[in-house]
Amino acid sequence: MDEVKCFIPKSLDEALRIRKEFHAKPLAGGSDLMVSYYKGIGIAPVFPFPVMIISNLSDELGTIRKEDDGVHIGALSTPNEIASSMVVPYPVRKAASLMGAPSLRNTATIGGNIGNASPKGDLPQPLILLDAEVVLRSVDGERRMKVDDFILGSKKTALADDEIITGIVIPEVKATHYFYHKIGMRRANAISKLSLSALFDVEDGVVVDFRASSGAAGPKVRRSRDAEEILIGLKLDEVSGKTGEFLSAWNSILSPHAMPEYRRASTRRMLLGFIEEVASGALPGNYE
Ligand SMILES: Cc1cc2nc3c(=O)[nH]c(=O)nc-3n(C[C@H](O)[C@H](O)[C@H](O)COP(=O)(O)OP(=O)(O)OC[C@H]3O[C@@H](n4cnc5c(N)ncnc54)[C@H](O)[C@@H]3O)c2cc1C
Repeated sequence: MDEVKCFIPKSLDEALRIRKEFHAKPLAGGSDLMVSYYKGIGIAPVFPFPVMIISNLSDELGTIRKEDDGVHIGALSTPNEIASSMVVPYPVRKAASLMGAPSLRNTATIGGNIGNASPKGDLPQPLILLDAEVVLRSVDGERRMKVDDFILGSKKTALADDEIITGIVIPEVKATHYFYHKIGMRRANAISKLSLSALFDVEDGVVVDFRASSGAAGPKVRRSRDAEEILIGLKLDEVSGKTGEFLSAWNSILSPHAMPEYRRASTRRMLLGFIEEVASGALPGNYE
């Protein structure tokens, strides 16, 4: 068998040079890659491609900070770091806090969650709700694109073979009410069967913004701008009269491969509950 190269760069610059020359696949927490190439207890996984272990780069890729254009989350930030950072918006914090078991929440990374592009990955869903961007670097420069455009489908991304995800930028989103819910087999350490985020921004009794996104209910996270538009601009007391129209528009974007009726009915029920609570004034706003 041909020898497979494994690199351990000491800086981002070195990692970018290795990525350009050898197209080595980044290995961050390894919780997807190591599992995919697992050969058995005590046997090192065998990768059919060059690998680059990037976990040493947390000084450059592991910080979370607020800047003028939004909240920057370094690619190596773990679910625990994200869940405990108060600058991170509520649905992303909540999703991070419910990922896997405590050990996973200290080893997995946001870069790996986006890079893996699993339809069941928990972080793309609230990031797409918030129009977050992924920051991609190569030796030739940096580009940004919406997470929604970066994830092309199940396990497919727009990552070029000389690029590394360096981080995520979440622009400031004004919202008075947030919703996040994950359904899994158990309360802990469960991959999502379904996840849903939504937000309202209500000003003087008028819906200024409304968004909803669902995960694990199709090959990639879905939002429907057409469905969202149905509720935007309404007075709160007009919302209940439009929920039927909204839900049928929303329904048409879901294409679950398994248990379609269960998944459609569950997202409809969760969305309806959230919308009615906000419309009736029963849900206090401003989540922190
Ligand atoms: C027991 C168990 C439970 C799990 N539970 C959940 C769960 O509840 N929710 C959930 O969403 N996921 C879950 N996962 C999946 C996994 O932990 C996550 O997807 C995690 O975020 C992956 O991060 P990582 O750093 O370990 O990725 P890695 O395995 O290191 O990488 C995953 C992919 O992303 C690419 N990649 C990593 N970093 C970068 C980068 N900076 N730039 C470019 N590409 C990059 C890699 O090349 C690879 O293709 C679980 C996994 C296990 C084993």
